Amino acid sequence: MALIELDHIGKAYDLGLTRVHALRDIHLAIEPGEFVAIIGQSGSGKSTLMNILGCLDVPTTGRYRLAGRDVSELADDELADVRNLEIGFVFQSFQLLPRASALENVELPLIYRGIPRKERRERAIEALRRVQLDDRMKHKPTELSGGQRQRVAIARALVTEPSLLLADEPTGNLDSRTGEEIVGLFLDLHRKGNTIVLVTHEPKLAARCPRAVRIVDGLVIADGPGVEVAMANAEAMGAEVVAQVLAASAVAEAAARARAPEAPGS
Ligand code: ADP
Ligand code: MG
Repeated sequence: MALIELDHIGKAYDLGLTRVHALRDIHLAIEPGEFVAIIGQSGSGKSTLMNILGCLDVPTTGRYRLAGRDVSELADDELADVRNLEIGFVFQSFQLLPRASALENVELPLIYRGIPRKERRERAIEALRRVQLDDRMKHKPTELSGGQRQRVAIARALVTEPSLLLADEPTGNLDSRTGEEIVGLFLDLHRKGNTIVLVTHEPKLAARCPRAVRIVDGLVIADGPGVEVAMANAEAMGAEVVAQVLAASAVAEAAARARAPEAPGS
């Protein structure tokens, strides 16, 4: 069974006399364990889609099934329950508590759940280990680099073991190399079984994802292997972006080869 099933999803905002159709007619199915990039220009509807996927908002039309359950018509408190149980969020702006240590930031969702202190600590340390940041537990966000802050935010999203990890432009505030490292971390989490949806407007990052979906004006216009969807987008953006996508796809292929060496004699 698909983890996510979107059927004819539309989202309109009423602004006085005008109506903005942020999403028009979205069909999308995502299986457990997939890693999907959502790409599209600013204003195309990516964040609106993420907010619906994450149960932060409800669609105007259509049906959303999450793990087999219809969540498109839930009341606010029921949506909050689904969100707390099933979803981990990562944002462009990290959204960490500035005065709390990395460890305390990661513990926070467990405090809301009433998990006892000792178990909280252990689970937060384990989550920080998964993002390779267990040696920075005591540091406050201001004492960490941008990439490290985003790793703390990813650990905080993972600590509740959500069925779905949603990241909306998580590399938007990071330099290019750090952005690549964060995508590398998501690839690693994906290999360990996490289901991830990542919004990015950078074709070279989407090219490293197994699957990408391109949105234009609230509609899905391409859905397929990350390299192919990113390349179609890159061609419209010019030679430099095409070169970046090709380089990213070479890196992805080399990494895949390194993980799965050919059997002897084959
Ligand atoms: P993206 O994340 O791809 O940049 P968004 O999903 O944020 O795009 O926005 C899609 C469209 O919906 C835009 O035209 C935006 O102005 C509009 N929109 C988004 N949120 C609201 C809102 N709360 N009220 C009115 N219009 C909105
Ligand atoms: Mg957005």
